[in-house]
Amino acid sequence: MSTTDALLYSSDHTFKELIAHAQRYGFIYPSSEIYDGLQSIYDYGPYGVALKRNLQNFWWQSMTQLHQNIVGIDSAIMMHPTTWKASGHIDGFSDPMVDNKDSKKRYRVDLLIEEHAMQLVSQGKSNQSKGLMEAMERCLAAGDLPGLDELLQQFGIVCPLSKTADWTPVRQFNLMFSTQVGAQNDATTIYLRPETAQGIFVNFLNVQKTARMKIPFGIAQVGKAFRNEIVARQFTFRMREFEQMEMQFFIQPGTEKCWFDYWQENRKNWYSSLGIEQEKINIYPHKQLAHYATAAVDIEYAFPFGYKEVEGIHSRTDFDLTSHQHYAKKKLQYFDPDLKKSYIPYVIETSVGLDRLVLMLLSNALTKENNPVNEERTTSRTYLKLPPPLAPIKSAIFPLVNKDGLAEKALTLFDQLKYDFPLIYEATPSIGKRYARQDLIGTPYSITIDYQTLEDETVTIRERDSMRQYRIHMSEITHHLASTTSIKSLLLQLKK
Ligand code: ATP
Repeated sequence: MSTTDALLYSSDHTFKELIAHAQRYGFIYPSSEIYDGLQSIYDYGPYGVALKRNLQNFWWQSMTQLHQNIVGIDSAIMMHPTTWKASGHIDGFSDPMVDNKDSKKRYRVDLLIEEHAMQLVSQGKSNQSKGLMEAMERCLAAGDLPGLDELLQQFGIVCPLSKTADWTPVRQFNLMFSTQVGAQNDATTIYLRPETAQGIFVNFLNVQKTARMKIPFGIAQVGKAFRNEIVARQFTFRMREFEQMEMQFFIQPGTEKCWFDYWQENRKNWYSSLGIEQEKINIYPHKQLAHYATAAVDIEYAFPFGYKEVEGIHSRTDFDLTSHQHYAKKKLQYFDPDLKKSYIPYVIETSVGLDRLVLMLLSNALTKENNPVNEERTTSRTYLKLPPPLAPIKSAIFPLVNKDGLAEKALTLFDQLKYDFPLIYEATPSIGKRYARQDLIGTPYSITIDYQTLEDETVTIRERDSMRQYRIHMSEITHHLASTTSIKSLLLQLKK
């Protein structure tokens, strides 16, 4: 997606409003906030962790449960250091950076240039912007650092803080965090994994043999990854500690085009099942490919700050297994019983950031609405239109008033339903405020127990999005909630 296109998309809330909402209503907090936080590290609050787990479960089940030939693993964050030599991360996992001598601030050069290109577009200088982006891509592909120096000067790109162009030369900066294991005088330097994929590659034969997998098959993993991002901004979009959900699909060489297309289609459907409109998703094919890839696309979502990557799909050839075979001096081959020969499989990878998906869902869900009451008056309401199966709380249960046995009846219902659904019970007086609070955290249904319930065992259900209210019998509630709020209902969407 070009910078021009990125600017074309605007959403009905600003990014600042989204961040404020996430913090204020218990989704995401800055880490160690009482000490003023730690840059680019975040904690999830009660509703954030539930949303994240639901999303992770949906991904996990859609991979491992819906595909007979995909299994999961959970490998360690710390790995043998040679892993990162073999994967290319020690030599090549770096970003070009530059320091401004006046503000003493450090920037990632590609992001600095990209921002300048966006400004040029907003000034109506689209051609200049295009020229700048193309020149930058050429420099990045060729590893031409002096070329990047020149672009900064030629386009008069200044530091956003000091407003000067007094830059140090551009340098490469490795993004891996290192640490020491073992006694001090005998310590080994190891790295916190910058991606989960390598844990899958080094376990390729373990899994293939012990789970008796036949090619084509996949290995899925969810776990933390760490990158010392230079420019850590945009809230949880770019973090230093984050979670990835990756799946490596091992295939026969020569079938990579077909499987690359299959996984693109499969992943696009996954986003539709979350209710994301087609125009908010963009598939961006890479022009400059990583050293290991023969094809790559990014799945981008229209955030309030433009279309940005949430997932990458890469055709990785046999690069990783071949390299591990070389460094480990162990055969990492598969004997194909159909072809009656051994080979190193090719790999198609789908790699998505769980935190970016949470941010995408929050961004997609945050809705501000004005509802006319009569000709003079409108009321406004803010709510999170989360897919019900991912909502942190499935239903709130309210007694209409806190007397005459209504609270007891409501608590009995709560106790019956709590084994199947995460719920909230609330008995504060104002019904309007109760609804508003549930809207803000995205609870799809609110159930009120009133005097009629005592007579005929029916309750009022109020829907979050339509605000529609209707009565159903208490015996129907479990089925009603299960059919609309279970992960299964999302998995069934994938069938369509
Ligand atoms: P970017 O270009 O945004 O730095 P990337 O191309 O380096 O991302 P990959 O290495 O392909 O990302 O990682 C796969 C996925 O992991 C990304 O699509 C993204 O969702 C997630 N991810 C990568 N880096 C971060 C980060 N610093 N914070 C949060 N999520 C991340």
